[in-house]
Amino acid sequence: MFSKILVANRGEIAIRVMRACRELGIKSVAVYSEADKNALFTRYADEAYEIGKPSPSQSYLRIDRIIDVAEESGAEAIHPGYGFLAENPGLGEECEKHGIKLIGPKSSVIEAMGDKITSKKLMKKAGVPVIPGTDKGVSDPDEAAEIADSIGYPVIIKASAGGGGIGMRTVYEEDELIRAMESTQSVAASAFGDPTVYIEKYLEKPRHIEFQVMADEHGNVIHLADRECSIQRRHQKLVEEAPSPIMTPELRERMGSAAVKAAEYIGYENAGTVEFLYSNGDFYFLEMNTRIQVEHPITEVITGVDLVKEQIRVASGEELSCRQEDITIRGHAIECRINAEDPLSDFAPNPGKITGYRSPGGIGVRVDSGVYMNYEIPPFYDSMISKLIVWGMDRQEAINRMRRALSEYIILGVRTTIPFHKAIMKNEAFQRGELHTHFVDEYRRGIDAEMQKIVKEDQEMVERLHSTFLPSKKVAAISAAIGAYMHSRRG
Ligand code: ADP
Repeated sequence: MFSKILVANRGEIAIRVMRACRELGIKSVAVYSEADKNALFTRYADEAYEIGKPSPSQSYLRIDRIIDVAEESGAEAIHPGYGFLAENPGLGEECEKHGIKLIGPKSSVIEAMGDKITSKKLMKKAGVPVIPGTDKGVSDPDEAAEIADSIGYPVIIKASAGGGGIGMRTVYEEDELIRAMESTQSVAASAFGDPTVYIEKYLEKPRHIEFQVMADEHGNVIHLADRECSIQRRHQKLVEEAPSPIMTPELRERMGSAAVKAAEYIGYENAGTVEFLYSNGDFYFLEMNTRIQVEHPITEVITGVDLVKEQIRVASGEELSCRQEDITIRGHAIECRINAEDPLSDFAPNPGKITGYRSPGGIGVRVDSGVYMNYEIPPFYDSMISKLIVWGMDRQEAINRMRRALSEYIILGVRTTIPFHKAIMKNEAFQRGELHTHFVDEYRRGIDAEMQKIVKEDQEMVERLHSTFLPSKKVAAISAAIGAYMHSRRG
């Protein structure tokens, strides 16, 4: 087992990994940018090293600096978290050269699965169902029109190198095809340095259902059931739950075996997620994420397996601590991503200082966050500040508990997505489990109206609670009351 691990990330995921280290008796090393000098994770770590300017390209993406710190501090392994270098095969290659263990799959696997065309081809070979369409790059307009015709509209044009919901465009009729192709190609070239695009069938109102897989270096591969992440905005997940409300033991068996087959075929190691789109009883491989995901806690909550500790153990050469038959699911979990964004202004980022903070608690509530009272959220990174995760005996209890926990969550100073989550939890279609990836668009009006009401109510509540945040006000009020009482006595 390792004695020291460097965490090449920031925010809540850095703390999540360091928590696992602490439980395993492993020392943790933080690397941070100038902008994160006061961030919680730099204090939580046993050692912390500044590695550069706020811009990620000058700090969190600097493989050379990170490797230097690992060597200087004597860390034997690097955990990349998610985002930043997590799916950059270059980090693994450099680690190998320096005799440092990367906590994740092999670089060649990260590279293959990072390219949508390559991964689709591999999955087809592995016998995993893929979305109908091409599995090669298309640049000739006539060929594109022919392909789209044979698949049938609507189609989606995707950048092979795409990620994070960027480089995708839906096309409903032939007239739009060429323009959509050109624009996706140029987005892909500027965002990913690779203009290759391909075409596939656009599934209307699919559900996003993914499977957590875990593999060791001895050929053991298991899945840890499913998560549904259909509540998205601009292809970005906002609410996740486990298990999917439509899951049955038969469907789980079919999808779970496909996920395991996918991982086995490519010689996967460590934690990964196989994402599927589900539509009308059929499911199709979407992509594989070769890292720990934001939404991993909901799987931990229903299976009891600490995925990050398992990642560390497996990377140190140990066998998986459980077999497929040991994995059982208990109850239901939901996660809401709390972002510093204004949901009433088209989710505009809203960084700034947190002037009041109280996180929820009580039975079945977990908060994974990297913020604290008086913390200044820097504007340079993604806007997620915390994840609120709840567990319930069943889905209804989880929803009720999430509503209760959201009502307790107080974050002052910056606008957050809490009102959005309150509105989603109250939505009747959500409560019935009728989810699809366009849910937020479909119910936009109702959600917006509900949010307006919620924001007003929240403001009133905050005013009532103000004294707990600003004791001086309370003190002043009490002393005024005492003063008035004394005066009346004297009279
Ligand atoms: P990224 O890698 O950028 O996150 P994905 O390929 O994982 O992109 O797709 C993200 C989301 O885009 C999916 O969850 C789904 O909502 C939507 N999507 C992608 N492909 C299709 C498709 N063929 N039909 C319908 N929706 C799609």
